[in-house]
Amino acid sequence: MPTSTVEDYLKCILVEQQRSPGSLVTTGQISSGLGVAPGTVTAMVKTLADSGLLSYEPYSGVLLTDHGRQLAAHVLRRHRLVELFLVAVMGMDWSEVHSEAELLEHAVSDRLIERMDEMLGHPSVDPHGDPIPDIHGEVHEPVLPNLLGCPLEALVKVARVGDQSREFLMLVERRRLKPGSRLRVTSRDEAADTVELRLEGGEELSLGFRAASKILVEPHT
Ligand SMILES: [Zn+2]
Repeated sequence: MPTSTVEDYLKCILVEQQRSPGSLVTTGQISSGLGVAPGTVTAMVKTLADSGLLSYEPYSGVLLTDHGRQLAAHVLRRHRLVELFLVAVMGMDWSEVHSEAELLEHAVSDRLIERMDEMLGHPSVDPHGDPIPDIHGEVHEPVLPNLLGCPLEALVKVARVGDQSREFLMLVERRRLKPGSRLRVTSRDEAADTVELRLEGGEELSLGFRAASKILVEPHT
């Protein structure tokens, strides 16, 4: 059974691989993702490579092996199911469940996690819209446009939130832009860096380009 440190590395690398498919994950990305010193990361990736969990090319980066990817997907599955359970069943706020899930993802047994999955009705996404890997470790990552790229005036539904810092999640909640919210982008002003939105209820609001780029949407059907 891998240690929680190993699980954190694998999960971080998988998330980065999903963010930019086809490219190696650099030790710099891992070090900023996990908040640990670059030297520590280099030592650890060598250990993980020796264990057959990833392949490591010095000075360029790493890529998970099938075995490493499988383990990482299971950690991600536990993390995301725990987050959803804490929100949907225990009524916790979606902006505070990440840190709880960081601890519990290493502790919950397979039996408990499968029971949670059953109680939640085998959900496909967590409260932030992140896809939950299935029991075989398969992750379906749809490519979604953000509020800068979706067509103007089309009715869209918020599908996923790309920044899960507590501050950003609280902003999303205050502006009523959580996954499931329906809205239209009415205009974009490049010079002012603002995107104007109209929520389904008629309320209008504006977001900066940076914030808008972190809200992913899908066509409303
Ligand atoms: Zn999440």
